[in-house]
Formats: sequence, C-alpha cells, structure tokens
Amino acid sequence: MKVIGLTGGIGSGKSTAAAFFRELGVPVFDSDHEAKHLMVQNDDIRNEVIALFGEKAYEGDVLNRAFISSKVFSDPELLEQLNMIVHPRVRSHFRKWVTAQEAPYVLQEAAILFENGAHKELDAMILVWAPKESRIQRVMARDKIGREAVLARMQNQWSDTETTALADYIIENIDRSETALQVARIHSELLDNMGVAEF
Ligand code: ADP
Repeated sequence: MKVIGLTGGIGSGKSTAAAFFRELGVPVFDSDHEAKHLMVQNDDIRNEVIALFGEKAYEGDVLNRAFISSKVFSDPELLEQLNMIVHPRVRSHFRKWVTAQEAPYVLQEAAILFENGAHKELDAMILVWAPKESRIQRVMARDKIGREAVLARMQNQWSDTETTALADYIIENIDRSETALQVARIHSELLDNMGVAEF
C-alpha cells in the first residue's frame, strides 16, 4: 500500500481536498485532528503538556487551544518542544492505522510534512495551493480570528516556492468544483501508476 502526503499552507484547502478524496473511497488520516485528539485522550501527553505550559493548558477535559496557540505561535522553540511531545505518538498511531486500511493507497493529511522532513518517508506528495490573500480571508472567516493571527500561523510554514518545488501533484484550490475535478484526475493517475484498474 502506498502512503501519500496531502499538505498545504493553512487555509489552502487541505481539508476540502481531503473530503473529495474520501468521497472517492480513499482512507485519509487527519494528523492535525489526531494530534488534538491525543492531546486530550493520552495521559502521558497530557502530563507532559501540563509540565510545559502549566495547568492552564487544559480546562477540565478540554484542551485550551487558544492559550496554547497564543504561546507557541510567537515562540518557535516552545512549538518545537510541543511537537516533540505530540508528533512521535501521532506517528505511531498513524503506522497502526495504515496497517488496518484496505486500499491501494492512503493519504496522510497534515499542515506540516515538508518542514519536518516527514515527506521523505512518503511515496508521493500532493500539495494544495491557493493564493495567499484567499487563504488569509478563508482562515479569518473559518477561525474567527484577525489578519495578524493568521499571518503569525503562516510564519511556521514554508513558502510556496519551497513546497511547490518538492510536490509531485499540485491542486489549485480556487473554485471548489475545479478542485474536485483535479482530485479525481490525481486519483486516476495514482491508480494508473499503481496498475490498479478499480478502487
Ligand atoms: P486547510 O485545511 O488547508 O486549513 P480548509 O479546507 O479548512 O483549509 O479551508 C479553509 C476555509 O476555506 C474553510 O472554511 C473552507 O470551507 C473554505 N474553502 C476551502 N476551499 C474553498 C474554495 N475553493 N473557495 C472558497 N472557500 C473555500
């Protein structure tokens, strides 16, 4: 089974593209969602997060995302420490998940795949792209945050020039129906390359 990365800058439309792949029957592992889930469910992670950020990191059983985001987005070292707590567990969860899937290929969706070198272990990379201004507007509307907060989050990700150079497939997510067509084309091409006639 091939494991393919699906990545893109915040607001580019990764989740949107992932939903189109799911409609075609492709199993998708949402790394960012899993990370958030494990941060609440996994006691080891929870204890280490509290050791790093203090008790304010959780409000009862709920992760205090606003608090953690405000801390890490202005402090790259703290973000790195948080990643070192969460990412190895998400990775091992992902490996187990892969073995349980029955499909010619699966997708690993994550905002960060190039930046941490994870793409080197994947069979191919799909990049979702959208103009920067559209991304800013989309995230402001989706997350109900200001422009500066969006720009701060973007800073932790690579530029378009760096990511497009390494991508095997690029989806331009401007018009949703065009995006669906691009997903269908990439899906067929992947299956062709794998010598699979049907999914
Ligand atoms: P990502 O997962 O890359 O952060 P999302 O798929 O969540 O991005 O898209 C960001 C926001 O923009 C969402 O609210 C989504 O509904 C919206 N969106 C995604 N694609 C488009 C598009 N082509 N046109 C308009 N809005 C879009």
